[in-house]
Amino acid sequence: MGAPARNEGMPLVVAIDGPSGSGKSSVSRAVARALDAAYLDTGAMYRALTWWCLAQGIDVADTEAVAALAPNAPLEVGLDPDDPRIGAGGVDLTQEVRSARVTEAVSAIATNLDVRADMRRRQRALIAAGLAERGAVVAEGRDITTVVAPDAPVRILLTASEDARLARRARQDLGSADAGAVAATRDRVVARDAQDSTVSQFTTAADGVVTIDSSDLEFSQTVAAVLAVVAGSPASRMPPTDDA
Ligand code: C5P
Repeated sequence: MGAPARNEGMPLVVAIDGPSGSGKSSVSRAVARALDAAYLDTGAMYRALTWWCLAQGIDVADTEAVAALAPNAPLEVGLDPDDPRIGAGGVDLTQEVRSARVTEAVSAIATNLDVRADMRRRQRALIAAGLAERGAVVAEGRDITTVVAPDAPVRILLTASEDARLARRARQDLGSADAGAVAATRDRVVARDAQDSTVSQFTTAADGVVTIDSSDLEFSQTVAAVLAVVAGSPASRMPPTDDA
C-alpha cells in the first residue's frame, strides 16, 4: 500500500519497539521514508554512548563512572531516514556502532538506570526536533512505546518468533542461516535480550500498543502492516473540511 495521507495539523509520532532481530530498524526506516518523517534509532544512541565510554577507557560495568560520563557524552544523532548517521565527538560511528565489541558491551550501558534517564531526556528532545523539522517522526527501540513516547498516537510492538529472529540475525552477521550460523548467533542474541529485558518490557505489548508479528511476513509486507496501523490513527487522517 502507499503511504497514508498525513493530517498536516497534527504531529505524528510513530513509536516502534521490539527485540533484537525483529527487523524493527530496517522496517522503521522504510516507514519513515514512506511518510517523509524523521527517523530516530535509539539503539544507535546506546551503542554510540557505549563506544564513547570504551574510547574514554571507562569500565562499562562501573555504573557510577558511566552515569557520570553519560550526560556529557557528545553524541551526534542524525534524523534523516535516507542517511541515518550516528557519531560522538566529531567521529562518525555509523559503521563502528555495529561492531561486535560495541554489541557485546551495550547492554551493560543500557541497564544503567541513570543512563536511561539521560537517554530519555535526549530522545524526547530529538523527537521534538524531528517534529519541528518534518512534522512526523518514527522512533524505534525497546522502551519508546512505554517510557519515551507513551502518548504517541501510533505505538507498535514488532515481534517475531525466536527462530525467525535468529535466522535473520545469522544472515545479517554471518551471511548464512544454516544450523551452525544460527547456533553461533543464538547465545549472543538470547543473552542480550535477557539482559535488556531487566530494564524494558519489549516482549509483550503494553495497553494500547498494537502487536505486529513479522515471523511469516516479507519485509515489504511488514512495512505495509505498520503503514496500515498509521493509516488508522487520527494523526494520519485529513482534518474534516468545513462542508463535511
Ligand atoms: O536495537 P539495537 O540492537 O541497536 O539496540 C542496541 C542496544 O541498545 C539494545 O541491546 C539495548 O541494550 C539498548 N536499547 C535500549 N533501549 C532502547 C534502544 C536500545 O535499552 N530504546
